[in-house]
Amino acid sequence: MYFESFVEGPLLWITFLLLLVGIASRLTFFSLSIIRSSQDKDFKLGYQFATFGRLFLPFHRAAVRKPLYAILRYIFHICLIVVPIWLSGHVSLWLESRFEWEWTALPDSLADWMTLILLGIAVYFIVRRLASSYVRMNTSKNDYLLIIMAVLPFLSGYFLAHGTVDEVPFIGNYIGTIHIITGEAMFVFVAFLFCRTRLNESRCTGCASCEVSCPTGTLESNDQGKLRIFNYSHYQCICCGACVNTCPEDAAELRHEFGFKRFFQIFSKQRIRDVEMEPCLSCGALYVPEPLLDKIGKTFTHDYLRTCPNCRKKNHMEFYRKLSPWTKGTQESPKACPPSYLPMRNTQID
Ligand code: SF4
Ligand code: SF4
Repeated sequence: MYFESFVEGPLLWITFLLLLVGIASRLTFFSLSIIRSSQDKDFKLGYQFATFGRLFLPFHRAAVRKPLYAILRYIFHICLIVVPIWLSGHVSLWLESRFEWEWTALPDSLADWMTLILLGIAVYFIVRRLASSYVRMNTSKNDYLLIIMAVLPFLSGYFLAHGTVDEVPFIGNYIGTIHIITGEAMFVFVAFLFCRTRLNESRCTGCASCEVSCPTGTLESNDQGKLRIFNYSHYQCICCGACVNTCPEDAAELRHEFGFKRFFQIFSKQRIRDVEMEPCLSCGALYVPEPLLDKIGKTFTHDYLRTCPNCRKKNHMEFYRKLSPWTKGTQESPKACPPSYLPMRNTQID
């Protein structure tokens, strides 16, 4: 009895306050990032409104890549937010509370349908992760946990409203408490939930196009020694999807990440990917990410690619210098094309 009143009283308020703090802090950092990124824009206010508005609309740039998935995600999130706020049972609880707040509730049948739609989409998300080998390989336990945490309050609420499990021993007696606990767990989850861009190792070539397209400087890459290191600042990300849209390899993904520590690591940067750099065959300077060179090397197989831009320039200059009538006769005649274009290795000649 004491446990139930604790769950329905103080614990509910604590988790609700945590949720509010989490949402307020996230919105504050979103706004700051958008304002900061608008500094070099001509029409700052328009850019700020458009970017902030896009957060709540399905015009996410990444949505273009997977429209069906994007629409389902959008519907899922609408149900996730609308049902708990406008459910008649919840509205009447607010009216009975000390605040005595009241607003128009959804018709019960519509709330039921929205709950069933949310549950159906959640099942699709789980099946999709299990059925597609690529998605499965890139799914962590946290991704499944996230879906389950979102679904449990809706499932238990549906059972509570319809008396579905009333005859089931134990669960039938405590379904109301189970519904509140799962709702509180979801509040905590949302408070510590962050956006996170992931650069898929099996696909990412380290080209850094995503960094160039990121409007807020959330994604950063630095070449340090033999590595190109990608960093990500979770509080700066505005979930615009520009990185996903730009990536030529379909390697950038926007994911959710849950973490207590992340909440307090306001200025920290996460190291999300290291890529090895390849040296120039001519001067030894590190000039290109190894996976990118490998990828290009599958189509263009000779050593022109394996020299850095400076050495290519020098080779061309040398070639044209030898062609010049002023040096003709004083040097060995140049070959038919610049030295950097000549097949040196990896070249098949039939
Ligand atoms: S644009 Fe794509 S391939 Fe290039 S670094 Fe970013 S994630 Fe990797
Ligand atoms: S990391 Fe990607 S989603 Fe986040 S702000 Fe940059 S481009 Fe947008």
